[in-house]
Amino acid sequence: MKLLEGKVAVVTGASQGIGREISQVFAEQGAKVVVSDVNVEGAQKAVQELNDAGFQAMAIGCDVTKEEDIRALVNGAVAEYGSLDVMVNNAGITRDATMRKMSIDQFNQVIQVHLLGCWLGTKAAADIMREQGHGSIVNMSSISGKVGNIGQTNYAAAKAGIIGLTKSAAKEVGFKGVRVNAIQPGLIKTAMTAAMPADIFAAREKEIPLGRAGDPRDIANAALFLSSDLSSYITGIVVEVAGGRHI
Ligand code: NAP
Repeated sequence: MKLLEGKVAVVTGASQGIGREISQVFAEQGAKVVVSDVNVEGAQKAVQELNDAGFQAMAIGCDVTKEEDIRALVNGAVAEYGSLDVMVNNAGITRDATMRKMSIDQFNQVIQVHLLGCWLGTKAAADIMREQGHGSIVNMSSISGKVGNIGQTNYAAAKAGIIGLTKSAAKEVGFKGVRVNAIQPGLIKTAMTAAMPADIFAAREKEIPLGRAGDPRDIANAALFLSSDLSSYITGIVVEVAGGRHI
């Protein structure tokens, strides 16, 4: 049996990388997927690929830092597919620089996309899910939020903040049947990490007990578990998917 048969899932930042793979895995598991991204053309291309493979999916453009966009996204999912069962707040950016060189703008941009975006997505999805009496929200944190990272005072702060947000939201909406969990990916092979200097990527990969960087599917599988009824008694937790790095 498919794990998300008949469920409606929204994934932000889903035109590429981890979000794109989550959309793929969710569709393979029977979900109707709303592929969302600030890059609307990218989201439409992903939906075309999913539709061509016989899956039900639609694209909605959304900048997660804008409340009106997020509201239109979740309402659009309900209007088209009838419910909102899963919300994955995945959109992300990096603006790396050491604290000495980081501008306030670089700090704020990252906080806005990750922390505000995740809060807006959690809030809007929870409003719908609590009325339905069920739903699963998955927030994308990072192992950087657990251990910190040189050049990422902005990103690590946002990703640590997502954990507090997730646990608080889980406590607020659990009695309505809504679960809220987070994933902390380690080093995953996407455009985001392709931007890293090769020697730094290789040095980080060496620290991984399982001996390899992760694939987007490794994260998508964890998102699938948290979104499906397999995790029906789990809320407010952080799943580390990092090959054992920083345990
Ligand atoms: P990615 O390939 O760069 O994909 C991120 C997507 O989010 C892009 O399509 C991006 O669009 C979109 N986005 C950026 N700003 C947005 C906004 N304001 N509203 C909506 N969408 C926006 O990154 P990824 O590696 O798949 O990362 C996905 C998530 O996992 C992020 O939250 C990231 O922090 C987290 N993560 C990744 C790793 C890793 O090793 N890759 C590790 C830990 C955590 P544009 O390309 O147009 O900006």
